[in-house]
Amino acid sequence: MLIEEKGILFILSGPSGVGKGTVRKALFEQDTNLKYSISMTTRAIREGEQEGVDYFYRTHDQFEQMINEKKMLEYAEYVGNYYGTPKQYVEDTIEKGHDVFLEIEVQGALQVKENFPQGVFIFLIPPSLEELKNRIIDRGTETEDLIMNRLKEARNEIEMMDKYDYVVVNDNINEAVKKVQAIVQSEHCKRERV
Ligand code: 5GP
Repeated sequence: MLIEEKGILFILSGPSGVGKGTVRKALFEQDTNLKYSISMTTRAIREGEQEGVDYFYRTHDQFEQMINEKKMLEYAEYVGNYYGTPKQYVEDTIEKGHDVFLEIEVQGALQVKENFPQGVFIFLIPPSLEELKNRIIDRGTETEDLIMNRLKEARNEIEMMDKYDYVVVNDNINEAVKKVQAIVQSEHCKRERV
């Protein structure tokens, strides 16, 4: 008899523009036990995004109140804004036996690693920095300055890759999704006990 009581926390990081969101959405279409933890941010809502779907959009004061009340599992300042994971949802959902997926940048992932070392850390990388730049430009949501800032962050983030359990190159989206699915399965196999 298979007994797996709690869900697994998966953390997906990778530089802005690498395709984390695309990989995550494809993954969710196929894995119904997986739950996405919606992050909180102080950044402005982008066209096409929705409150409570893409993020919980909050003011600086509201975000800092969450930090002071110790309600964040992790948080980071990224290109001038706060981003963070509300703790309660993650804890409750894992307790209920669902896997939880965080899509967060590196500083936050390292905090999760300290507080939640049993998490599974996956780093998605672009085939090259040149390709990453093209993807951010193609997305068309950022000004020139923001693109340069994001690329600078990307270089710093890629240096932290060794701290992750798995590295997946996002050269081809379908292949990248298959690899992440394989990681999810393999982590469940590791924990299966009779
Ligand atoms: P974007 O502004 O492009 O939506 O996100 C910018 C960066 O913040 C991305 O690398 C994204 O993964 C990361 N991010 C999104 N939510 C969180 C979060 O809850 N915590 C942390 N640490 N980073 C996040």
